Amino acid sequence: MHYNPKHDLLEQRIILVTGAGDGIGREAALTYARFGAQLVLLGRTESKLLAVRDEIAAQGGAPALTVTLDLLHATQEQCRQVAADLTDQLPRLDGVLHNAGLLGDIVPMAEIDMAMWHDVMQVNVNATFMLTQALLPLLLKSPAGSLIFTTSSVGRMGRAGWGAYAVSKFATEGMMQVLAEEYKSRHLRVNCINPGGTRTSMRAAAFPHEDKNKLKTPADIMPLYLYLMGDDSRRKTGMSFDAQPNRKPGATE
Ligand code: NDP
Repeated sequence: MHYNPKHDLLEQRIILVTGAGDGIGREAALTYARFGAQLVLLGRTESKLLAVRDEIAAQGGAPALTVTLDLLHATQEQCRQVAADLTDQLPRLDGVLHNAGLLGDIVPMAEIDMAMWHDVMQVNVNATFMLTQALLPLLLKSPAGSLIFTTSSVGRMGRAGWGAYAVSKFATEGMMQVLAEEYKSRHLRVNCINPGGTRTSMRAAAFPHEDKNKLKTPADIMPLYLYLMGDDSRRKTGMSFDAQPNRKPGATE
């Protein structure tokens, strides 16, 4: 995507990113901070969140908050507690990027282990939903909130072997569409981003034999992440965007 954001695009914005300690989420958090936002960094590995917080401070960004939460075991009560703690510290949330995700095993449906199925659904669907539900009141305090989910090309068209992950991403698209309809006359827009094959540890786990130098980096795909978080996308809702629109799904595998 060609997009030239204003340098102060996210000034005065407060944005929560899940899975902010690594991969695409880490890059999104650093990028949003560079464009003026105050960040809430949510993830399961505290040391990684603290490293990102320090990096934001070193680049002159607003002090970031960190929330350590393992989405694999997160309950509705814990999600509500996270929202309550944030409500004590922040006036509102202007954006939430649901980025944390679990790949699970790449195996045919017939071989899927139920424990793995539940884990993928818990992280990618249930925890994402519970966190969304808990954070909605804070998001609705923003005059122009942006709620972004992370999908995948296998969440739009099924592909053999991608079982639990693909089904969880179809559910993510559905969650986005229902919420977008429910809030279409309010000041909250809801969209999905499909990053496309991107150089991270999740991608390396899915395609261990591909040449990672041929993949875009998380930094390369940030224009769409900025566009959907800033005011230029204010009228967009209920849509699923590709960060790499010209990339054929599964191109390098
Ligand atoms: P990474 O595995 O590199 O990063 C995932 C992040 O999510 C990490 O920070 C990880 O934390 C966090 N996370 C994982 N499980 C949990 C959990 N139980 N609780 C809290 N945080 C958790 O993945 P990517 O950056 O590649 O993926 C980001 C998103 O993009 C995912 O939703 C993925 O499905 C999607 N995507 C990625 C593509 C790609 O090619 N990379 C393509 C299409 C979609 P920790 O660092 O502690 O492990």
